[in-house]
Amino acid sequence: MSQPTQSAASAVAFDLRETDLFAFCRKGGNVTGEVVTRDLPRILAETAEDAPASAPEETFRYMLAGFVREEAVEPGEPVSKRMFLDVTVNGRVWLDCQRCLQVYPEPIATKMRFEVMMSEEAADEAPMDDDELDVIVGSKKFSALDLIEDEVLLALPSAPKHAVCPAVHESLVTGTDGEVEPEAPPEEEKRPSPFAALASLKTKH
Ligand SMILES: [Zn+2]
Repeated sequence: MSQPTQSAASAVAFDLRETDLFAFCRKGGNVTGEVVTRDLPRILAETAEDAPASAPEETFRYMLAGFVREEAVEPGEPVSKRMFLDVTVNGRVWLDCQRCLQVYPEPIATKMRFEVMMSEEAADEAPMDDDELDVIVGSKKFSALDLIEDEVLLALPSAPKHAVCPAVHESLVTGTDGEVEPEAPPEEEKRPSPFAALASLKTKH
């Protein structure tokens, strides 16, 4: 018996743009692969304008795993066959740092479990009290590519920043540090600083 290779077996059946998601879950499908940023127009739109020319070639590694579990939607309810999809996406997106204004690659590492519903109606009725589990409506022509793109978009920070900025942008340095300008007006120097005034107030208490 030859060794079955998972990726080779699923690569034949799996079309990232159009797959039967119900069948994928029922057979316990599992695929890994890569998508390129240029195939993700909404990620391209979020990419910084001054990103390196290679930014559209940045790849995202994904893993999709479908499975079925027989369990009740809520305790006490009848057990039913529920379909799930685990989606893992890793990669990076070039963004502008809000602190130093320089472009940098934001690492993306997202993992989410979805319950796959048969219809919009079923999705609307699903209890939404589980933070760990989101709901998607499956289809026989499901675009996993759109779902992967959604996941990357959701993983983008609302305020992108380097973990540690390489340098503070000069526009943010000028005039904000303690250096006294040589031509500073004399009355400016005589005025007590608000902080000094505060300090003297504090010592009186
Ligand atoms: Zn920065």
